Amino acid sequence: MVQECSNPECDRTIRRWSLYPNYCSQYCDLFVAQGRAIINGKEKFGKHQFVGFNWMPKIMVDCQWCGKPNCTLTNSVDNKNGNSVFCDINCRNEGWKGKNTQKHYWLLRTLQKLKRPVVAGDMARYMEEKAGCIAGSSRMVGSIMRSYIKHGFVTRTQTNRESTTYEWTYRGIPIPLCKIIRQVRGSAGQKGNLTR
Ligand SMILES: [Zn+2]
Ligand SMILES: [Zn+2]
Repeated sequence: MVQECSNPECDRTIRRWSLYPNYCSQYCDLFVAQGRAIINGKEKFGKHQFVGFNWMPKIMVDCQWCGKPNCTLTNSVDNKNGNSVFCDINCRNEGWKGKNTQKHYWLLRTLQKLKRPVVAGDMARYMEEKAGCIAGSSRMVGSIMRSYIKHGFVTRTQTNRESTTYEWTYRGIPIPLCKIIRQVRGSAGQKGNLTR
């Protein structure tokens, strides 16, 4: 069954593995949550010839590397190349540094956004949808989650062999996800929460 996006200004449908249950994209989720409206060309420029030239406003979100609210979302479904994740090319280069960082990012992002326990196999599917060509498995999810569990960001909420679930349980001050990934990977072997 095809589900329509709940943003009244959007005519897209929702893909199977969307991180935003009622919306096609982070953009539409925030557009509604922030009570945004279409920018009217006539009102903005005061000229009748601009009637009909309406457009969707840009929405700013926090960069997942530097944490500044300078990351620009435009009216589209989340793309796969990280443009909706970082504020600029420098943050993108830093943020994605390290082997398999995008896998870590999209797995953690899935838990953070869905705000509920997610079965490992489903996490792999969400990650594949967001990261394009990257393939995942429950086993891979389990091995990546191990260090985030140890540092208190994630909890394994069910350990049934067929349906191990993971949940984002970190409630401390917000830290950009790619910073968390960098710190957790840089502290292999240490226990407990990270120092900031
Ligand atoms: Zn939409
Ligand atoms: Zn940045």
